[in-house]
Amino acid sequence: MNDEERALRAKVRAFVEGFSLADLEAIEQEIAELESDRQAPTTFNPRLAGLGVVGMGWPGSLVPPATQGERFVAHEELDSAGLPTYGLEQSEAVGWMLATFGPEELAAEHLPRILDQSWSYAGGYSEPEAGSDLLALTSRATRTDAGWRVRGQKLWTSGAHVADWIFTLVRTDPESTRHHGLSILMIDAHAPGVTVQPVRVMGGWRVNACFFDDVEVPASHLIGEEGKAWMMMSAALDIERSMSFGGREARLLLARYLDRLGRTGATLPEASWTELGEQVAELEVERLLGLSTVARGEANEPASGEASMNKIVGPAVAQRVAQLLVDRLGADALLAPGVTADRLAADAEHFLRAATVLSIIGGTSEVQRSIIAQRALGLPRG
Ligand SMILES: Cc1cc2nc3c(=O)[nH]c(=O)nc-3n(C[C@H](O)[C@H](O)[C@H](O)COP(=O)(O)OP(=O)(O)OC[C@H]3O[C@@H](n4cnc5c(N)ncnc54)[C@H](O)[C@@H]3O)c2cc1C
Repeated sequence: MNDEERALRAKVRAFVEGFSLADLEAIEQEIAELESDRQAPTTFNPRLAGLGVVGMGWPGSLVPPATQGERFVAHEELDSAGLPTYGLEQSEAVGWMLATFGPEELAAEHLPRILDQSWSYAGGYSEPEAGSDLLALTSRATRTDAGWRVRGQKLWTSGAHVADWIFTLVRTDPESTRHHGLSILMIDAHAPGVTVQPVRVMGGWRVNACFFDDVEVPASHLIGEEGKAWMMMSAALDIERSMSFGGREARLLLARYLDRLGRTGATLPEASWTELGEQVAELEVERLLGLSTVARGEANEPASGEASMNKIVGPAVAQRVAQLLVDRLGADALLAPGVTADRLAADAEHFLRAATVLSIIGGTSEVQRSIIAQRALGLPRG
């Protein structure tokens, strides 16, 4: 860690320590009321905006230059404190696209609202018949005098019900197939013809089905170049897969458990300490994989293989830690918060279900293994 990263870590840690128990409860309540899982637009986002860590690493002069290592440090501190960063990740993803690929006018409209976290975003890629094989998507946009008319359906769209905008992958060239002829449109989540319906999945997560029935989208809302979205998408997916997928939440839960052991002076058989030690070591591997992805990115080396390894390892370690804690915490871990007074046990059980879903979000572990085979090992496509 260099001096800049050390200073940034101290700054973000001081920010995190500024949250009182009451603040954290207010955040939790907003998330529960909105069913937004990890988005808290009024209780958290405005405070985050003031910290100056949004948009780290974007090109251009709107934000001070920052390395990927610095971005890693800032996100690590926020996640490790259990603060809700999903909205930040989503808005930074589209912010990075706009800052990198334009157009200027759309970027000028959105980037300030991303930096102050006053608008929120959902990423509409997957469809009922196009998840792992995203290129099979059938949502399409046809040209009109004023721009585009969009018809189609997206599925699993996280946060669409609290989003102001859905950045949506569509086919703009009807003659095209696979990688060609795809574009990303910035669609107003409240425009006529947009319907957002809830889909609830394991772990209490609400995602959405989004229907686009002849939605009119201005020509100026095309992100990047028409028909060339795949290159942007691949880069955005690599960035998404290099995020922490459960490792930091697992570390926080494990720390709470170890703290409890310390406070109660509980003794454990040696085999139990060995098991705990193994999980601590696995969490460190998960962290180092995240850093290795960052290092490759900073060296301008292809990072898809590492990002996919990170995407597999995070949920797997998180699931093992959660299972271990549920086993240790006994019957209370089978009860909902409120029913049991043991909050740690209830949180561990909830996290066990949530971490299971993390193996699917952002691309399943099976698909990541194929990417590693091809892009990290150079093996031929099966
Ligand atoms: C909670 C949650 C949040 C999500 N949020 C978003 C979001 O915000 N935006 C968005 O666009 N998408 C989102 N997704 C969608 C997610 O990216 C897809 O669910 C994922 O890519 C898998 O696609 P699928 O569900 O269509 O499964 P399928 O592609 O139908 O896969 C079914 C099974 O077949 C396996 N499989 C498929 N193809 C292969 C292959 N080639 N080799 C080996 N095995 C294979 C898969 O591993 C899986 O086990 C979210 C999903 C979840 C669960």
